Amino acid sequence: MSGERPDTRLVEGGRRPEWTQGVVNPPVWRASTILFDSCAALADACRHNADGGLFYGRRGTPTQWALADALTGLEPGAEGTMLFPSGVAAIAVALLSVLKPGDELLMVDSVYEPTRAFCRQVLAPMGISTRFYDPLLGGDIAALLGPQTRAVFLESPGSLTFEVQDIPAIVAAARAAGAVTLLDNTWATPLFLPALALGVDLSILACTKYVVGHSDAMLGAVTAAPGHYAALRQTAQRFGQHVGPDDAALGLRGLRTMGVRLRQHQASGLAVARWLAARPEVARVLHPALPDCPGHALWQRDFTGASGLFSVVLAGGDAAARAALIDGLRHFGIGFSWGGYESLALPVDPAALRSATRWQAEGPVMRLHIGLESVEDLIKDLEAGLARFRAARG
Ligand SMILES: *Cc1c(COP(=O)(O)O)cnc(C)c1O
Repeated sequence: MSGERPDTRLVEGGRRPEWTQGVVNPPVWRASTILFDSCAALADACRHNADGGLFYGRRGTPTQWALADALTGLEPGAEGTMLFPSGVAAIAVALLSVLKPGDELLMVDSVYEPTRAFCRQVLAPMGISTRFYDPLLGGDIAALLGPQTRAVFLESPGSLTFEVQDIPAIVAAARAAGAVTLLDNTWATPLFLPALALGVDLSILACTKYVVGHSDAMLGAVTAAPGHYAALRQTAQRFGQHVGPDDAALGLRGLRTMGVRLRQHQASGLAVARWLAARPEVARVLHPALPDCPGHALWQRDFTGASGLFSVVLAGGDAAARAALIDGLRHFGIGFSWGGYESLALPVDPAALRSATRWQAEGPVMRLHIGLESVEDLIKDLEAGLARFRAARG
């Protein structure tokens, strides 16, 4: 598809007639073995290894191709998308598709913790070194790019602390030094940040979050700019990465409504964030659309929206006072994987995860995901929670 606006692409993406056979939703094709008509047909299929041809279950069926195709359509200029069984698998294979022993990786210091662990525990023993960099470093990252630097990894906004990065400046510096750029785009999705249009080479999504959108499946995806898809595809195939057709169908179902859901997450999230920012028990709200958030001006410049995930720095108090707040909430679950229709509250400790920068807070930190419940109910719930926090803080 070309030229259509994002909501149209969400509805129409991947629904090629040869895959749907006239059914609105691409059907679930369950397959391991694919049968060939003859030895000659088998030999022909082996020679081609093309996208979109039935070959063997691990290479997918129209169900997985439809989801990959729809995701490619969301990133104008993309060459293709590979699916993965989780967001972490997508990150791991994307990194291994560009790095080899002896290379150096520049990694943002506000990165999702399992990505940091992958660098330390998988890449380092392979002879691939990682240097962590300040998320607020823009074009000055040029000074860190050396002859061994093969890739720069961005995540904007950062996990837990929500610093917004200067993506175009970092991409320009990386490109000048011959390094590949990878961006974890899970928070904004391509709807609020078309990453490839900003020059990013590999755009990574934990589809587990807003694409699936209903907290009932794990999925990841990497969408590649021209020139980067072949290596990504080959690495994914070598590692045997495969997504089950039922999970792909759940991803497709979620994707169709991602636009309306994200707009509601944005509106409700902003209403709750603004309400919290005005409360005396709150020191700071780390939400890219609020001026307190480091990099807010960059969010205004580069993003077209904000999703429903942000952090709250409480004013004073300790972990026990934070637990008094969170444990008694009626409408917020306590759990990790956000992006579903439900609200979540999570105690977090971002300072412990830093290595290149220091991160300091005025009190304990809580990450919130604002779901699709009525904002009035969520605010009433948080108001009672802040009263418990006040009492426990003393
Ligand atoms: C959740 C998350 C991931 C990992 O996704 P999984 O599907 O849970 O493996 C990666 N990056 C970010 C920013 C996330 O929030």
